[in-house]
Amino acid sequence: MTAQYDAVIIGAGFGGMGAAIQLQELGLHNLLILDREDDLGGTWHVNHYPGLAVDIPSAVYSYSFEPNPYWSRLFAPGSELKKYAEHVADKYGLRKYMRFGVVVNGARWDAEHDHWVVSTADGDTVTGTYLLTATGFLSQPRMPDIEGIDTFAGKVIHTTKWDNDFDPKGRRIGVIGTGATAVQLIPELAKSAAELTVYQRTAIWVVPKMDAHVPGFVRQLFARVPQTQKAARKVGGTVLEAIMVGGVLHFRQFKVFNRGAAAAAKAHLYAQVRDPKVRKALTPDYDFGCKRPTFSNTYFRTFNKPNVKLESTSIARVEPDGIVTTDGNKIEIDTLVLATGFNLWEANFPAIEVIGREDRNLGKFWRDNRFQAFEGITVPKFPNFLSLNSPYSYSGLSYFDTIESQMRHVKRLFQEMQRQGATTFEVTEAANTDFLDRMTRKLDDSVFILGSCETSRSYYFNQHGEATLLRPTSTASAYEEQGTFPLEAYEIA
Ligand SMILES: Cc1cc2nc3c(=O)[nH]c(=O)nc-3n(C[C@H](O)[C@H](O)[C@H](O)COP(=O)(O)OP(=O)(O)OC[C@H]3O[C@@H](n4cnc5c(N)ncnc54)[C@H](O)[C@@H]3O)c2cc1C
Repeated sequence: MTAQYDAVIIGAGFGGMGAAIQLQELGLHNLLILDREDDLGGTWHVNHYPGLAVDIPSAVYSYSFEPNPYWSRLFAPGSELKKYAEHVADKYGLRKYMRFGVVVNGARWDAEHDHWVVSTADGDTVTGTYLLTATGFLSQPRMPDIEGIDTFAGKVIHTTKWDNDFDPKGRRIGVIGTGATAVQLIPELAKSAAELTVYQRTAIWVVPKMDAHVPGFVRQLFARVPQTQKAARKVGGTVLEAIMVGGVLHFRQFKVFNRGAAAAAKAHLYAQVRDPKVRKALTPDYDFGCKRPTFSNTYFRTFNKPNVKLESTSIARVEPDGIVTTDGNKIEIDTLVLATGFNLWEANFPAIEVIGREDRNLGKFWRDNRFQAFEGITVPKFPNFLSLNSPYSYSGLSYFDTIESQMRHVKRLFQEMQRQGATTFEVTEAANTDFLDRMTRKLDDSVFILGSCETSRSYYFNQHGEATLLRPTSTASAYEEQGTFPLEAYEIA
């Protein structure tokens, strides 16, 4: 019995689309892309809260092979990313593979027929020779577990389910969370809310955002002479690399970058916030880089506004008309905004249940052992499976570095299979163990091990306290290695 599809890809975000473009280039055209949403774009379709924008310069946060000269700002607003995703899908003919509104529950390797059987929530199954999960790291919204939250009588909005008709004007709003999303959203809500109370559990490092409108003549230049935008990409990428690889991953050798970034963030806070008590509360008590750094020119200064209050005492409970903190203080609100982020490492990682050879359950395997994947993409006992959101897969700061490195891995692996006339692959235990050992050793130089991260509550760390999200190498070496890894790492048949 042959599979219905060459490959089934779960997720129609930039990761899934990059994978599909690569497979097409390799000659695989019988593809199926499943997504539970009603349109493509992943993160940039789901999120549309006020203030949404990239925090990586747009010349960098895009496919290198599909530059967009028309970004309106150096850091484009979210709506432009959604349009860019649509443009890519059209240009590379990806829409014909996509099926929306399909929640995938799981996938099982069928050893008899050498293919994957993918099951959906509505009881259907589809089969594919290859399975690729591109379900995103930041795609499973976290709901806070706070006493009484279900009794709240006012409006409740999670940032991933923003109500575009909601008007903050005159509202008494409580925002729970001060992560990257909140940093973008809070200044927007503060413009017209009657009262805005921000409930902060963990202060966040915020550095200035070198953002600006891109004038028309620069856009024309980027369109006519693409090398100029390539040069901008190079410069932006180098700065990000200095922050991430120098200041965070090579903390031992380049602590000075880390201390420099922290000093810049503190100076930014000092320049923007008048009240010393508020400044103190907004100052993180963990090292820069333990958590993904955030960029904003408006977040800190929002706390000078008379209608904005920072509350850093823990929440005791939510009542129908307000929030009570552990000191007994109650603030009445009519709107509760949950900027509480995403679950990464818990029961819904991976996002679907994946059962490989010998009934190995991927999520259970990761949780019972250590989180691991060869080159952040394949796992022993999971033949013909590419897990794009894997431990140690996230390379650098711009997610497009990860996507393009992984596309390179797929290319090398599939070209070798084609050369051998083979159709199945599986990474060896030895290659996987070597890679895990190497990543573990490399992490010894990082801020995650050498710095003070205990209070950061960062999604870089899993439930075992290990920093397993980021690949602790430079993006350049990750890219190089994904195109040169030893082919003996795989059993190909
Ligand atoms: C608000 C926000 C801002 C961000 N800003 C940046 C930034 O500036 N720079 C940066 O580098 N990164 C940023 N990120 C990270 C961002 O997620 C990645 O850059 C990138 O968009 C991820 O692409 P992806 O395709 O891997 O995942 P996603 O875009 O998350 O797409 C995953 C898709 O899988 C689908 N899916 C998941 N589970 C299932 C299932 N069981 N069945 C069917 N479909 C499923 C989802 O519906 C979704 O469409 C941001 C994330 C968020 C949430």
